[in-house]
Amino acid sequence: MNKAEKMIDALRPRPPINGDNRFFYDELKAGRVSVQGCSSCEELRHPPVPMCPSCHSLDWSPRQMSGEGELISYVVMHHPIVPPFQDGYIVALIEFTEGPRLVMNLEGIAEDDIEIGMKVEVTAHAVDDELTLPMASPCA
Ligand SMILES: [Zn+2]
Repeated sequence: MNKAEKMIDALRPRPPINGDNRFFYDELKAGRVSVQGCSSCEELRHPPVPMCPSCHSLDWSPRQMSGEGELISYVVMHHPIVPPFQDGYIVALIEFTEGPRLVMNLEGIAEDDIEIGMKVEVTAHAVDDELTLPMASPCA
């Protein structure tokens, strides 16, 4: 196996799973992109935390997002590249129509065609057998 083949075989870094964020990755495995929704004041929040920042309630449930969002900001990775990421990998901040913002990969668009404010569709994307992450792509 040469060096280039080894780079392709490298796995994505694993997120640190804890009691607060486990639901997020379980929901993705089930094909849903969900965030925490406060059971008291209904505020949606991400990243996951134990307590509602608005009303201090500890009660919450997963709320599935519609998948519709807007590109708020992005960066494109060029150098240095860390396997398995490849040159031109796009990291995007997406705001769902429901309000929460998530950082994820933006696929299916050339760097020169990206526009802040563009509409995107977010889906649960199986990166490999064990890891599923949200992924954005431009709306058709
Ligand atoms: Zn609340």
